Amino acid sequence: RSNAQKYEFQAEVSRLMDIIINSLYSNKDIFLRELISNASDALDKIRFLALTDKEVLGEGDNTKLDIQIKLDKQNKILSIRDRGIGMTKEDLIKNLGTIAKSGTSAFVEKMQTSGDLNLIGQFGVGFYSVYLVADYVEVISKHNDDKQHVWESNADGAFAISEDTWNEPLGRGTEIRLHLREEAGEYLEESKLKELVKKYSEFINFPIYLWASKEVDVEVPADEDESSDEEEKPESSEEEEETEKGEDEDAEDKPKTKKVKETTYDWELLNDVKAIWLRNPKEVTDEEYTKFYHSLAKDFGDEKPLAWSHFTAEGDVEFKAVLFVPPKAPHDLYESYYNANKSNLKLYVRRVFISDEFDELLPKYLNFLKGLVDSDTLPLNVSREMLQQHSSLKTIKKKLIRKALDMIRRIADEDPDEAKDKDKKDVEDSSDDEKKGQYAKFWNEFGKSIKLGIIEDAANRNRLAKLLRFESTKSDGKLTSLDQYISRMKSGQKDIFYITGPNKEQLEKSPFLERLKKKGYEVIFFTDPVDEYLMQYLMDYEDKKFQNVSKEGLKLGKDSKDKELKESFKELTKWWKGALASENVDDVKISNRLDNTPCVVVTSKYGWSANMERIMQSQTL
Ligand code: ADP
Ligand code: MG
Repeated sequence: RSNAQKYEFQAEVSRLMDIIINSLYSNKDIFLRELISNASDALDKIRFLALTDKEVLGEGDNTKLDIQIKLDKQNKILSIRDRGIGMTKEDLIKNLGTIAKSGTSAFVEKMQTSGDLNLIGQFGVGFYSVYLVADYVEVISKHNDDKQHVWESNADGAFAISEDTWNEPLGRGTEIRLHLREEAGEYLEESKLKELVKKYSEFINFPIYLWASKEVDVEVPADEDESSDEEEKPESSEEEEETEKGEDEDAEDKPKTKKVKETTYDWELLNDVKAIWLRNPKEVTDEEYTKFYHSLAKDFGDEKPLAWSHFTAEGDVEFKAVLFVPPKAPHDLYESYYNANKSNLKLYVRRVFISDEFDELLPKYLNFLKGLVDSDTLPLNVSREMLQQHSSLKTIKKKLIRKALDMIRRIADEDPDEAKDKDKKDVEDSSDDEKKGQYAKFWNEFGKSIKLGIIEDAANRNRLAKLLRFESTKSDGKLTSLDQYISRMKSGQKDIFYITGPNKEQLEKSPFLERLKKKGYEVIFFTDPVDEYLMQYLMDYEDKKFQNVSKEGLKLGKDSKDKELKESFKELTKWWKGALASENVDDVKISNRLDNTPCVVVTSKYGWSANMERIMQSQTL
């Protein structure tokens, strides 16, 4: 093409494309959901702009916010078009030639070794999956601010962009034409495409149409030649058929007609556009929630989310929300925890997608949740910045936290492994095997988030503390909770005992436990570095104080001999205190905390525990 300009792909993109082209990855289907997801994103963008400026939508067909899929069997072309925001020439160069998101090179690396392309959408490179099935791709795009352009590439390290002077004008939006590879013929089957949309794109919030064939019975004069009729079919347009039909009906008196099958084409709607969150939760099946989660999280593994909560909030601020606990934590959940914006909630206002980067909806420690919020209370015609300041967001956030914590608690309540020490009732409620072990799974994936929550969220500290799990001297290698600990407390025991250290094995041998164990007291093992910080914030639970057994202040009940012993060893402790320089120890005391070990070094009440010293040292080294 005379006006084509050539560009090289960014090296990383080239590498990615090479991997995709040569991929033996068997699930090539994923390209379609990536293209539909991009079309849906583009539609979201134009709809959002139209909130403040109606003009951007234009008129006529341009106002139809939908996605259309068409097949050209003869030329082996599959095309997907949307009336979304479109791309300018600059956009095409930038979006389909470079990778903006960080972390992609790690993904490319990973893909090279694992070959698993399923996560491609999560890494912001979903578009390139088209090369799983096509060897040549054209992207025709029209943005309001530019002329129509064509981007094309056969994945040989370069792409070309031309001003489009030969295709039909799109009005606005993007059409992607996939020139399918020889072995990708199945994607020219309508049934295959219908199946894929159903499987992966059911919850797209814009109508998805397929230009689909339909067999209809047509009455024709009995003497008409069938074969010539058949030849006309593909060409005949909708209107013509309708008039033909009409004529037939008019001519009802004609004695000799016969029925023949004729193939006609029409747009067939493939998805049910009614948003799942607007439906009555009682009428949504588990399977639907699971599929919705997959599409929302772009996580198309076969695992179910660990839990979900679908609710309507009423009152001053009205909104509907669906929250999910994913089955697995993303690999980078705690990376740059304090400075990254990683909220995973989508915000809608009156069914219009606004943003998925609203930090104001959930506190950081709940960033592992996925879901969406759709509010009728928030204003529609203001900028994102204005919305971010809106006072209702505080109320929404508060309710979301409450619902999220309830949802997490329910995982525990319904888990038969958890209910062991509790009322019989709970056990009966959760007889199904599916729930078994789910809380331990949750804890392994997201326990750290709960701990960070206790540190950060004073208002919900107690609720979060209920969700804590740990091992203890009496938990028998299993996880246990504070409530269970309390239920096992000895009569007269006032404090909750715990000890911190690098691992359970080491802690079990600690001399600090000797006496406590002998007397039958339970001691919690805290072995995660974050636990040291946690215990600076978690002072008490259900009116019981926490006592680090390696620190000063351990009270194991009064012993009548205490005073006597203190008196008789007065000289020795005094001598000892003098012998050890005062920079090294604060005090030397008689204590009843030990059993076999003659003496032990204890940390002062407000000082760092030995474990904390260890953690701090490893951080500065
Ligand atoms: P992601 O969707 O995660 O950003 P993709 O590789 O799927 O990553 O797409 C890259 C970019 O290309 C998108 O962010 C978007 O800017 C642009 N793009 C892709 N498809 C379309 C489309 N149909 N309409 C408008 N822009 C698109
Ligand atoms: Mg995408």
